[in-house]
Amino acid sequence: MKKLVAILLVVLALASASPLFAQAAKPVKVAVIFFDFANTYLSYMRGGMKNFESTLGSSVQIDYVDSRNDQPTQNDQIDTLIAKGIDVLAINPVDPKAASTMIAKAKARNIPIVFFNRCPDEADILSYDKDWYVGTTPEESGVIQAQMIMNAWKARPSLDKNKDGKMQYVILKGTPGHPDAEARTKLVVETMQKAGFPIEQLALQPANFKTDDAKNIMETWLGRFGDKTEMVICNNDAMALGAVEALKSAGYFTGKKYMGVVGINALSTVVPLIKDDIMLGSVLSDPNNEAQAILLMAVNLVRGGDVLKGVKNGILGTFRDVRMPYFEIVKSNIEVAEAAYKKTETK
Ligand code: CA
Repeated sequence: MKKLVAILLVVLALASASPLFAQAAKPVKVAVIFFDFANTYLSYMRGGMKNFESTLGSSVQIDYVDSRNDQPTQNDQIDTLIAKGIDVLAINPVDPKAASTMIAKAKARNIPIVFFNRCPDEADILSYDKDWYVGTTPEESGVIQAQMIMNAWKARPSLDKNKDGKMQYVILKGTPGHPDAEARTKLVVETMQKAGFPIEQLALQPANFKTDDAKNIMETWLGRFGDKTEMVICNNDAMALGAVEALKSAGYFTGKKYMGVVGINALSTVVPLIKDDIMLGSVLSDPNNEAQAILLMAVNLVRGGDVLKGVKNGILGTFRDVRMPYFEIVKSNIEVAEAAYKKTETK
């Protein structure tokens, strides 16, 4: 009991000494709700938010909430946060189709929402004039990946191993039906075709965004096509890592034995592979960039004025959606990816 009293006294002393209480302006109370803390990309984003939060001082108070990949949990969390007197919600939906339920809760109390990372239907966003969306355009990553492949091909004639002037390629696709898997696969091929780039597809198979699945499929392809494949196009880096593993086991990336591999995400784990000339490149969506945009928009929505004030690089879409850009990451600009991840590391 004595101990508890002592702790309480310390807490009270800290509270009264905090500049937060001395400040005239009320801090903006933001709740950032993630569909799942376990997601790698989103954990980078959370790190970026925490670092950005530390630059905002006591003007902003942020709660980070984990919905543990469960929509009913997320709905309950929203109820609790609203009851607690939150000023604005930033929501990464577990299920974007549940947006209308979440919007109804916030709308009843006139609380703005910034949805992020998983996009609700346009009609849902448009149903409430105080909600926005921040994310990327999946098609763009496919286009950038195609441009990266074509640039590499031009710069390195040795990639055309059989010297037939055409690029023989395979595609490791993400989970069928997933918007990123569909858009990236379609756009990478379409962009090369439209540019008149000579290509020949040897195989396309879903590896569900997973390293192990990709490794197994790549092993099968090596058995089937041998060294005939000149480019392994992956919908994400996790699968590129699997392809690289299979290729390394088959003796690739030593001496002259080579096969081009490209991914998407520019994960910190592929950075050394790009540096060592194993992977040709990847496509980065800067989690830090996105983190800042979400927090700035949330605060702007509460304070009034321009919602996009301070937001860098965002492109305004047609339904209060803001799209953050993708960047090509190759050996010559690898420091861009390194810098992006550095900003997401929390101390
Ligand atoms: Ca060829």
